[in-house]
Amino acid sequence: MSVETILVFGEADESGPSGLTLELLAAARDLATKAEVFVVGDGAAAASELGAHGASTVYSTGVLDGKLMGVHAAATLQAHLDSNPVDAVFFGQTPDGRDTAARLAVRLDQPVITNNVGAVIEDGALVVEEPVFGGTQNVFTAFRNEGPSLALFRPKSFEAEPTGSGAAEVVPVDFVDPGAAGSATVTGRHIEERSGPQLDDAEVVVSGGRGLGQPEAYEMVDELAGLLGAASGASRAIVDAGWVPYAKQVGQTGKVVKPNVYVACGISGATQHLVGMKGSKNIIAINKDPEAPIFGVADLGIVGDVHKVIPALIEALKAR
Ligand SMILES: Cc1cc2nc3c(=O)[nH]c(=O)nc-3n(C[C@H](O)[C@H](O)[C@H](O)COP(=O)(O)OP(=O)(O)OC[C@H]3O[C@@H](n4cnc5c(N)ncnc54)[C@H](O)[C@@H]3O)c2cc1C
Repeated sequence: MSVETILVFGEADESGPSGLTLELLAAARDLATKAEVFVVGDGAAAASELGAHGASTVYSTGVLDGKLMGVHAAATLQAHLDSNPVDAVFFGQTPDGRDTAARLAVRLDQPVITNNVGAVIEDGALVVEEPVFGGTQNVFTAFRNEGPSLALFRPKSFEAEPTGSGAAEVVPVDFVDPGAAGSATVTGRHIEERSGPQLDDAEVVVSGGRGLGQPEAYEMVDELAGLLGAASGASRAIVDAGWVPYAKQVGQTGKVVKPNVYVACGISGATQHLVGMKGSKNIIAINKDPEAPIFGVADLGIVGDVHKVIPALIEALKAR
């Protein structure tokens, strides 16, 4: 069963649409006859990739210079939806996605459901799935409102997959004056330095937790990750302790990862950590406590001391 049209709030930069935008597009395509994308930015530059992932139309506002995205995006989207009604608007659970969806919900006086990991159409209504209680239960909510269903989804909830279609049609959209809030300007941006494989899309992730004992021991995790061509991650315990930056945190309040291989070193497997990595294809856990919950999701468990097991792995990899 499907609905007529789902509009994806697309996020794109000079390197193209974000991975999350393509994931949402895959879901929109599955659930609706027509999947469209609304890009606050240079939608034309992203049109061929968006088209290849199944978008029929890309609405493009052009670049928003030095202004607060959510304010202008919500006002412009509201006007757009007035003349181009859709069944649902999908947003990524990102800072701009959250800001825009919240403002749009108020402007349209429609409900918005955040933090979802799945969606289906039942009896013509969008039903979204949201994990609660640290990911131990899932709540399914059906939209029953008259008007577009506004839903936000976590990264990696759907798999991005090209359809092989041609470029999407690009339709320019004029910005709408959002009123007084529009005078806010962005005074600075901090772009975090990134090198090597990134947590979000690495094929292999090696994460460390409190079982490492001390911050210096995280170097072993980094070294093992380097030898495996992996990204390094962390539990919240060692992020909160200031051993590693928040950008490395995996879990409910960190990143959701779904690599081919996830190696958890000295991580107990609290539910809040598991929701961020249990979708990994193969999970390897190293923990000295045979009763640690992480072994409940592990495909391969090594009961042992990280200070012995990781150096032995590093040595074995170097010897290859
Ligand atoms: C609202 C909320 C949100 C949260 N969000 C997140 C989140 O996003 N991500 C997250 O990770 N956590 C999150 N947490 C915290 C979570 O509940 C746990 O406290 C945290 O995951 C524990 O981290 P840890 O496994 O590194 O530490 P611990 O739970 O202390 O586990 C350490 C493990 O290391 C093992 N160990 C000790 N020494 C060794 C050794 N020498 N060799 C091998 N193993 C050893 C121990 O047996 C133990 O299993 C959240 C909590 C709340 C309340």
